[in-house]
Amino acid sequence: MAATDIARQVGEGCRTVPLAGHVGFDSLPDQLVNKSVSQGFCFNILCVGETGLGKSTLMDTLFNTKFEGEPATHTQPGVQLRSNTYDLQESNVGLKLTIVSTVGFGDQINKEDSYKPIVEFIDAQFEAYLQEELKIRRVLHTYHDSRIHACLYFIAPTGHSLKSLDLVTMKKLDSKVNIIPIIAKSDAISKSELTKFKIKITSELVSNGVQIYQFPTDDESVAEINGTMNAHLPFAVIGSTEELKIGNKMMKARQYPWGTVQVENEAHCDFVKLREMLIRVNMEDLREQTHSRHYELYRRCKLEEMGFKDTDPDSKPFSLQETYEAKRNEFLGELQKKEEEMRQMFVQRVKEKEAELKEAEKELHEKFDRLKKLHQDEKKKLEDKKKSLDDEVNAFKQRKTAAELLQSQGSQAGGSQTLKRDKEKKKFIEARESEDPVWPLGKKPAVTWFKAASCIPVPLPAPPAGHSRPVFDCNMCRGSACSTGPPASLFQLRMLFVPPRYLHPAWLGEHQSAGFSPLVCSHLASPTTTKPPTGTTASPQRVPSPFQF
Ligand code: GDP
Repeated sequence: MAATDIARQVGEGCRTVPLAGHVGFDSLPDQLVNKSVSQGFCFNILCVGETGLGKSTLMDTLFNTKFEGEPATHTQPGVQLRSNTYDLQESNVGLKLTIVSTVGFGDQINKEDSYKPIVEFIDAQFEAYLQEELKIRRVLHTYHDSRIHACLYFIAPTGHSLKSLDLVTMKKLDSKVNIIPIIAKSDAISKSELTKFKIKITSELVSNGVQIYQFPTDDESVAEINGTMNAHLPFAVIGSTEELKIGNKMMKARQYPWGTVQVENEAHCDFVKLREMLIRVNMEDLREQTHSRHYELYRRCKLEEMGFKDTDPDSKPFSLQETYEAKRNEFLGELQKKEEEMRQMFVQRVKEKEAELKEAEKELHEKFDRLKKLHQDEKKKLEDKKKSLDDEVNAFKQRKTAAELLQSQGSQAGGSQTLKRDKEKKKFIEARESEDPVWPLGKKPAVTWFKAASCIPVPLPAPPAGHSRPVFDCNMCRGSACSTGPPASLFQLRMLFVPPRYLHPAWLGEHQSAGFSPLVCSHLASPTTTKPPTGTTASPQRVPSPFQF
């Protein structure tokens, strides 16, 4: 709020009365001055502009010093804000100066979001101040106010028109900071071009609705100069820290092969105007504008965003307490609503889970019933099978008993007949032996009679020296594979140990006609075998001893 508005408001309900003598409150401005001087001042400048436009040089030139800092490169991936604070002293006045510079501004191919880091930085300083203000124990008089008081916007001396990056950035910043546009490196542009360029820039700013800082004209003491200076905007500046001797004075200048540009010569550039307006005349107004206009706007938006308001819907004043309580109730209501929603959701989920479990239980029961039935059927089948097997076993036992009975009866009846048959057998054997042919070696062959389930080998004597193999006759199988099953009668095996020379077909034929078969039974292939060949079912023990000689 401007000072004249406040005076008008105060004056409305008051009467002016004359004083009879000196009271002393006319020293108030001095008191304020003294207090301010003792506290010191702070001023924060933001320099926005492309890398290499002379931002650092201009700051050094403005404050007549050399601020430290590395020159920025053009290879930054994004825009960064570099802030440095310096304590300056002039006479007995101290100034805490913060210079913030945009590093990498305009160096990216895609410059769409270049303004964002700058806006965020400015907002962050407002937010920090607001947080300090909202503290219960705030110490604003010692708080380092980092809010940006002036933004020097560096425009490249192209002589054409503003770049879209400049227009967009200034548009985004104009409600947050006091923008003072300046044409950088103005020694690179001719006088006539500069005049046209300034007009072009001003018209472009107006047509795009960009609000730049206007030096105040409501204070009579500075109204004239500020009014004149407003017409010179944007200032065309030159920066240099180099001092050259011009005449008999050392002056800041830039020297070229064709001449010298003096920084502080108003015929050469607007550097002096800028310094006058920025530092010597309007520094306090810039600080005040920052607080009362830009910060106020930020604070209002922020508090409204947080739900605070000055009046209720009926336009009645709304106290902070009421706002707080309304907000608290609203918050509690929302919390309750959320709680209720979560409870409902939980109940719903539990119901769904319950239904799922019931379904699974039902399926399990059905499966169990199915398996149980299957098991019962299987059990019944097995029981039936067992019963039929038991019946079969019983029948078999009965048959066996009957057979045994029959056998015992039969054996009793045939006992006498067996003796008779044995005698006949012996006679038969003796008769067969007497029928022996003439043995070539004059030896009697080893004759073995036996009864067996098949043609089973019996222990054979080893062949005498000079005899290679036995010739024998198996009258059971006749040389073919013996079949299993009990023999119908006794059979005779005759073995002749013969030398190989007698294995002539003629000799064999002779003996064949004499009742011998020349066939070699495979069962008795080895004369030294004393055990039955593998696979035969009977064993030598089964050979009845009465028939062995
Ligand atoms: P910054 O990157 O914007 O901080 O630019 P600098 O201050 O580092 O300056 C970059 C270059 O421009 C340096 O070589 C300076 O000497 C030069 N420069 C600075 N101001 C001017 C000026 O007003 N005119 C001309 N012609 N050159 C300048």
